Amino acid sequence: SDTGAQKARLVTKEEWLQKWEMGNIGFHKEQGHPLLQKYLNVLLNGRSGLRIFFPLCGKAVEMKWLADMGHSIVGVEISEQALKDFFAEHNLPYCEKPVPEIPGAKVLQSTSGNISLYCCSIYDLSSSIVGKFDGVWDRGALVAVNPCDRQRYASLMIRLMEKNSSYLLVTVSYDPNKHKGPPFYVPESEIRSLFG
Ligand code: SAH
Repeated sequence: SDTGAQKARLVTKEEWLQKWEMGNIGFHKEQGHPLLQKYLNVLLNGRSGLRIFFPLCGKAVEMKWLADMGHSIVGVEISEQALKDFFAEHNLPYCEKPVPEIPGAKVLQSTSGNISLYCCSIYDLSSSIVGKFDGVWDRGALVAVNPCDRQRYASLMIRLMEKNSSYLLVTVSYDPNKHKGPPFYVPESEIRSLFG
């Protein structure tokens, strides 16, 4: 298919914040994503106590699931409201701390310590700030970044991964001439060239 129609699309930070403010969050799955249940064993691969990254996390309930299984969760999200809603909706106490390396950013951390959600742009992160991860749950993330930023996004994700890590990616398949996105259509050939 031709993805030309979406190549030049730009969704600004303000537009995302507005979606959260207006409750325009049809992407949020109250019950969690069935594909994570289905492929959980692929993500974990028999391992326990993993560090798992949620890029562009929103208030994904899967963060709570995996934390309850004993994993450490790190997420990043530009909407502070999304992160506050996450902790409130799960009745999780948390504290806020500045992130010295990133001016204006903060991290919201569950009091129990196993969920750390960074409120900043993903492009502000690096492995020296958040470390590296054993697993990644990418749902509504690669498909939500602006098409012009995909290479930058994928390179960052690769730098954030440990040697033996697993990356679960959810994409959507449709005719990009019929819907402007997000979620954007990312053809499989492009995924191969982005991630190798
Ligand atoms: N992964 C979540 C949310 C998907 S929607 C889920 O499955 O429900 C995409 C999210 O990315 C939105 O909440 C938006 O606010 C956030 N976002 C968009 N651009 C971002 C960026 N550059 N850095 C961090 N978060 C971003």
